[in-house]
Amino acid sequence: MRLRVLVVEDDREIRALIQSSLSVEGFDVQTAVTLHEAQALLAHSPPDLIVLDLGLPDGDGVELVRQVRRQHTTPILIVSARHQEAQKIALLDAGADDYLTKPFSVAELLARMRVALRHRGTALAAAVTIHALEDLRVDLALHQVQKGGETLHLTPTEFKLLARLVRSAGRVVTHRQLLADVWGPEFTEHIHYLRLYMGQLRSKIEHDPAEPRHLLTETGVGYRLAVD
Ligand code: CA
Repeated sequence: MRLRVLVVEDDREIRALIQSSLSVEGFDVQTAVTLHEAQALLAHSPPDLIVLDLGLPDGDGVELVRQVRRQHTTPILIVSARHQEAQKIALLDAGADDYLTKPFSVAELLARMRVALRHRGTALAAAVTIHALEDLRVDLALHQVQKGGETLHLTPTEFKLLARLVRSAGRVVTHRQLLADVWGPEFTEHIHYLRLYMGQLRSKIEHDPAEPRHLLTETGVGYRLAVD
């Protein structure tokens, strides 16, 4: 079955590039230049994945994310320019799956699409409870974290934080999402908690906490657990 992708992008060159690269990969691609056009296409037949630009001629992408999330679990990947940081975070918090900063490579786009589609697939099946990459192995069901075969001792909060990232492995999780899910909704402004606990986790999990390979920083946005 060919997966259907809706690309919402007003930049003609980027739109054409994404469309041709995804078509080559076997996706069935529809394009929209404005929010209005995207809404019309969505009402007609929801796609399997949406690639959404932020700066559109007739408005803000966040409106589209909220509309889609009211009815569908369709993965949404944001493509944005670097200066749109604050908007990007609002979109992730509204339910977008991930983002790419322009300029990005087609390989990067495809990798993020695979992760997003995989997460939607597993959301319907059993939840992902085991994460393994290089020397790190996390088993959420057994409450066990191992590095190079040795069991690590994490505090309950460190484990909760790591578990939250494992459940979204490969995808960015915003500061606000992490704080709400690990500490509670009243702690979403306490970014210093996150910095402190992320530092502790890195010192236990990473070979070199200064150059993390597992717990990656998405500057100004949040963190991502590496999957490859
Ligand atoms: Ca644009």
